[in-house]
Amino acid sequence: MAEGLFKHGIAAGRLAPAQYADNFSDLHPPLDAHEALVEADRCYFCYDAPCMQACPTSIDIPMFIRQIATGNPIGSAKTIFDQNILGGMCARVCPTETLCEEVCVRETAEGKPVQIGRLQRYATDTAMRQHKQFYERAAATGRKVAIVGAGPAGLAAAHRLARYGHEVTIFESRPKSGGLNEYGIAAYKSTDDFAQAEVDYVTAIGGIEIEHGRALGRDIHLSELTAAFDAVFLGIGLAGVNALRAEGEDAEGVENAVEFIAELRQAADLGSLPVGRRVVVIGGGMTAIDAAVQSKLLGAEEVTICYRRGKEHMNASEFEQDLAAANGVGIRHWLQPKRVVSEGGKVAAIELEYTALKDGKLGGTGETVTLLADQVFKAIGQSFEPAALNGSGASIGLEGGRIKVDEEGRTSLAKVWAGGDCIVGGDDLTVSAVAQGRDAAESIHRALTANGRA
Ligand SMILES: Cc1cc2nc3c(=O)[nH]c(=O)nc-3n(C[C@H](O)[C@H](O)[C@H](O)COP(=O)(O)OP(=O)(O)OC[C@H]3O[C@@H](n4cnc5c(N)ncnc54)[C@H](O)[C@@H]3O)c2cc1C
Ligand code: SF4
Repeated sequence: MAEGLFKHGIAAGRLAPAQYADNFSDLHPPLDAHEALVEADRCYFCYDAPCMQACPTSIDIPMFIRQIATGNPIGSAKTIFDQNILGGMCARVCPTETLCEEVCVRETAEGKPVQIGRLQRYATDTAMRQHKQFYERAAATGRKVAIVGAGPAGLAAAHRLARYGHEVTIFESRPKSGGLNEYGIAAYKSTDDFAQAEVDYVTAIGGIEIEHGRALGRDIHLSELTAAFDAVFLGIGLAGVNALRAEGEDAEGVENAVEFIAELRQAADLGSLPVGRRVVVIGGGMTAIDAAVQSKLLGAEEVTICYRRGKEHMNASEFEQDLAAANGVGIRHWLQPKRVVSEGGKVAAIELEYTALKDGKLGGTGETVTLLADQVFKAIGQSFEPAALNGSGASIGLEGGRIKVDEEGRTSLAKVWAGGDCIVGGDDLTVSAVAQGRDAAESIHRALTANGRA
């Protein structure tokens, strides 16, 4: 390749200042009261509603929609929060097209489901705007529970335990609570600092103390927690990022998509964020889509997602793939990274190999293509880092690299429960982390009240 082709570089401020606010505005703007009534009227209030079964937190969807239809959004919000205290964030981020809305009878009959997510947002936003608190703490039990990680799983567990009158301390390694709601979800899904507003709403119940900057494995140890508390819940998510396994991947400009997104979510001025002119994203999930779309919205000219399998194998939903396409992101399939080409230590291009399935096994074909790039994002999955369990790693059973739990969220270690992305068998969705945190809290409560000890 001729020298000089690669002189694009990574730069901040590619757009006019006003353009950023426009590009990163709400993906699904809220419904107003009239729109909500009209949409709620579309619900058939099915008996044995399939949407309810498709929701990992089993919200009584026909009930909350009926409450909206009868002019009672506050009652509707309570119906939602009874099952899912992070119902406000889930309304914004759930891939409803593969959950509740996928099985809506209106979807199967007309291809146009009731907009359950947007109705859920209408109800929860109404209640949160009015600072309506629906739950009071039960009398103090004197029992103490430690939670590690203030993400969706940890927060859901904390709220349920606080309701029962237990005293909760959350240990969180980051300076802010919220987990990936604060540091990971795409900026256009969670606008106006909603993640922090939700943390404040959840913790307003009282009895929940959060210690920031306190990391398990560094500042505190599991053995200390099990000694000092009656029970421990681990909701520590996935701290590791998988490697590309491509030659030259340590060149400047090859970055973790998750770190890029975290930086973007915390930026006070989006115009200060550097982005390449030509960006290549490696991966096929939600993180790949989010990194690609947000790069484009920051002003990158050419953004291409490369995924090693076909469209039908991508973890990103059809809706997410369409969102990428609508934003001008190209998606190329059956390509795996082979070599990062760098100039003066900086990424200049990426060489990819075509792949194919042979006897059900994926492999390279030997044929390659080179895409010019000045920024390459790795979005090929995150991994659980058992190092945080230091010492206890041997006694906490892991499976497939994540924490093994039983149907109640109990780990193999006495007094220790876990939930969310860090456990085996999860689907890496916010709503599932909420369900697992809530259910583990119920199990902890049963254990603490049955015999006084977990
Ligand atoms: C880029 C991206 C976009 C996503 N978009 C969506 C989406 O649109 N919709 C959706 O449903 N899901 C989405 N997800 C998945 C979703 O965010 C997760 O499934 C969910 O956040 C999991 O919740 P959690 O509580 O298990 O973990 P996390 O949200 O990761 O929270 C874990 C918390 O534990 C803390 N922690 C970690 N290690 C330690 C330690 N050693 N000591 C103390 N604290 C620790 C972390 O700082 C963090 O606050 C996305 C994920 C990513 C990465
Ligand atoms: S929490 Fe998510 S899956 Fe459940 S009803 Fe709400 S939008 Fe649908």
